Amino acid sequence: MLSDTIAAISTAVGESGIAVIRVSGPEAISEVGRLFRSKTALPEAESHTVHYGFIVDPATGEKLEEVLVSVFRAPRSFTTEDVVEISTHGGIISVKRVMDLLLQQRGIRLAEPGEFTKRAFLNGRIDLSQAEAVIDLIRSKSDRAFSVALKQVEGQLSRQISKLRHTLIETLAHIEVNIDYPEHDVESMTMAFIKEKCAEVSEGIDALLKTANQGKILREGITTAIVGRPNVGKSSLMNALARENKAIVTDIPGTTRDVIEEYVTINNIPLKLLDTAGIRETMDVVEQIGVERSKAAVSEADLILLVLNSAEALHEDEIALMEQLKGRSTIVLLNKIDLPQQLDREVVRRYFPEESIVELSVKTEEGLDHLEDAIARMFFGGELESNDLTYVSNVRHIALLKKAKQSLADAYEAADSGIPIDILQIDVRLAWEQLGEVIGDSAPDALIDQIFSQFCLGK
Ligand code: GDP
Ligand code: ZN
Repeated sequence: MLSDTIAAISTAVGESGIAVIRVSGPEAISEVGRLFRSKTALPEAESHTVHYGFIVDPATGEKLEEVLVSVFRAPRSFTTEDVVEISTHGGIISVKRVMDLLLQQRGIRLAEPGEFTKRAFLNGRIDLSQAEAVIDLIRSKSDRAFSVALKQVEGQLSRQISKLRHTLIETLAHIEVNIDYPEHDVESMTMAFIKEKCAEVSEGIDALLKTANQGKILREGITTAIVGRPNVGKSSLMNALARENKAIVTDIPGTTRDVIEEYVTINNIPLKLLDTAGIRETMDVVEQIGVERSKAAVSEADLILLVLNSAEALHEDEIALMEQLKGRSTIVLLNKIDLPQQLDREVVRRYFPEESIVELSVKTEEGLDHLEDAIARMFFGGELESNDLTYVSNVRHIALLKKAKQSLADAYEAADSGIPIDILQIDVRLAWEQLGEVIGDSAPDALIDQIFSQFCLGK
């Protein structure tokens, strides 16, 4: 099953400078070699070399494409099999012609989504968390998310999990000895040892879990609602954010035609702006129902940007809104500081702490950077260092870590209440297995299939 040869287009289909077709398996070099004309015949090519030439249809002798072909020989390739990568011109037609020709060859079939990565996993080249990180890489919405996922591919999470599992194996060994030599003094020593180790590993898990929330934010973006009365500057703010942060990553049509999710990245933090369709309307007369609409957006937001017009006195709707937002992650924007000031700051401070109030003018862009700082401060305690943190961002990992923590808590409690050591051993072993599942040790086949099916074609 794993011994056949697969091919797929590995770059996004569409307009691009070049496109890459990847072929992996024992026939990769010979099959591509039959279609490739260049100075060096591919079967003679050394590993990690690139060759210029033409893809030729052997039936007609027609030159289909000018290409570069890279050769990676087993086991020094992504899949650990023989791999050939064909770089063609990026146009969809030229890629498709080469791909069609490849699939006409007897020894080559179209790869399933994720099959290259799956082979890398099954051949022991990467572990499961690294494979999942490849999915995250493909989907990541910001530079920061990208580098976190990259770290995971490089195995940081795996290393930390392995360290914790190592401690548990030591503990299990200790228990084993105790079961073999059950003198009383050994037993009490062992209980203390087990408790200490359970607590130690549990702390390690906590540290990983703490990064989970940040991980989610990095992956999915901070769900952000911009709220406020008509004419305070919401649309202008949206536009300014979008303009300043050119990386509007994507527009995802939502469930209704009205709701559009839009991403902007601020200090490398992706914000998922809610209900921007409403805010973008140029005919602001329509925003009579602005506050009603705000209420709906507010209920699902992680972050609320409340915009007030500092050139006017507070309106009763705004007092009501502030009342409603008390205790939520809110940043208050006192907009239009370029105009003569009317708004009473004291009232605002009654509802929100000083550090979450930002004075700015969207028009002159004065203070816009303070907004960016305030967002970073609120979510990452002022700084977001991807260098020394392992972000756990995958829901499956989070669930397993929580389970393992519970197993350890059970073991700890059992140790405390004098439960026989061979029973307590079960919980410690369970924790060890649950941590193992994160990195794909002891993960059931069905799960592995399910994870790899999430990949897009050609990865
Ligand atoms: P929205 O109804 O909350 O979306 O408000 P808009 O973004 O449509 O802005 C309403 C008006 O206020 C527009 O004429 C903007 O040009 C203006 N405006 C927005 N921000 C500022 C600002 O910082 N200073 C000044 N002077 N005018 C602004
Ligand atoms: Zn507007």
